[in-house]
Amino acid sequence: MSSNILVINCGSSSLKFSVVNSQSGEQPISGLAERLGDAEAIVTIKTSNGNKLTFDISGGEHDQALETILNYLQQENLLDSIQAVGHRVVHGGEHFTASTIINEDVLNAIESCNHLAPLHNPANLIGIRSSQKLLNKVPHVAVFDTAFHQTMPAQAYLYPVPYELYQKEGVRRYGFHGTSHRYVSMALAEKLEKPLSSLNLISAHLGNGCSATAIKAGQSVDTTMGLTPLEGLVMGTRSGDVDPSLHHFLCTQTQMTIDEVNTLLNKKSGLLGLSGLSNDMRTLEQAASEGNQQAEIAIQVFCYRLAKQIAALAVPLGHVDGLIFTGGIGENSVSIRQRVLEQLTVLGFQLDPSQNELAGKSQLGLITQAGSTPAYVVNTDEEWMIAKDTQTCVTAGE
Ligand code: AMP
Repeated sequence: MSSNILVINCGSSSLKFSVVNSQSGEQPISGLAERLGDAEAIVTIKTSNGNKLTFDISGGEHDQALETILNYLQQENLLDSIQAVGHRVVHGGEHFTASTIINEDVLNAIESCNHLAPLHNPANLIGIRSSQKLLNKVPHVAVFDTAFHQTMPAQAYLYPVPYELYQKEGVRRYGFHGTSHRYVSMALAEKLEKPLSSLNLISAHLGNGCSATAIKAGQSVDTTMGLTPLEGLVMGTRSGDVDPSLHHFLCTQTQMTIDEVNTLLNKKSGLLGLSGLSNDMRTLEQAASEGNQQAEIAIQVFCYRLAKQIAALAVPLGHVDGLIFTGGIGENSVSIRQRVLEQLTVLGFQLDPSQNELAGKSQLGLITQAGSTPAYVVNTDEEWMIAKDTQTCVTAGE
């Protein structure tokens, strides 16, 4: 029987899962439980032949969603092939510099980071506890979004605020999307047949959430997200960088509460806020092509700020061996890649329009001209990275 890893990504009312073959990386079965706790809670499973099955678990929570998933795996004779479970955990604070096998100490340390990611870590813990209960014979591994960025030097992770805020409250830049940045940098080195230790890369993960990272010899040396995933680039609904006085300004000028400003910046800003139309880049590109000026300006701000941040990330690298585009927008949008690279001639990028059209379909995903600083499209695969880490941790622990 082949050996599989169950990868779980748990949110407060959702649970994403994937069964990953630990040798081939194939993902025969995956799915999503949504609206957990609600009367409309459902589990959707994408089967190995591409069909979609939906299970109604009205009012069901994470436990029931997992039971439904595990029953299906049992029915498909796959349950016994699960050798370990890999959990995505958003915040590992300064406790975790790498993925780790979960024990009581690890659970306590994750819980001690709850205040740093109050929307995510408690939900991740619910997923871990539920699955430990139901799959109690196999090891469980935590893979952190923040761990990859723990190699950032102090000059990159400190905010210029009183130092005791770092010492007492953990106020510093942590960075996120680490699993994706690590995966695409490793995947590119493999494609280029060069050791990762010889490469200076910038990866731009552009999805609904967006971040870019400077990666020197395989290590994160700076990134755009900070204490929370709000810092940095323009995103679907998040503003990215704004003047830190904006909170005070809005609270005094409009009588918004601090929580309302926080919601505004996280849920109503970014592409959605600027366009007044959508957080979805496809929708905005379509609208802009039909003459919608607000959609066009949202795209312009997105691309200009991204180009500026990529140029800034060249500073800790000295020179750039490659820029990676990944995530839903980075992998699919020909025009966003074009707009960004055209604003980065300072770093020596020269777009090859026909290769850009082909995107990642060409062998290396190279989208720039020969002799230029290279830019590539690399499809991310966070599930595979989590499964790989899980396998490595389990093997090392045996
Ligand atoms: P992700 O969070 O990685 O799934 O990415 C979601 C984002 O990718 C959304 O803004 C989508 O509109 C965007 N996206 C997906 N496909 C395309 C496409 N073909 N062109 C432009 N944007 C796309």
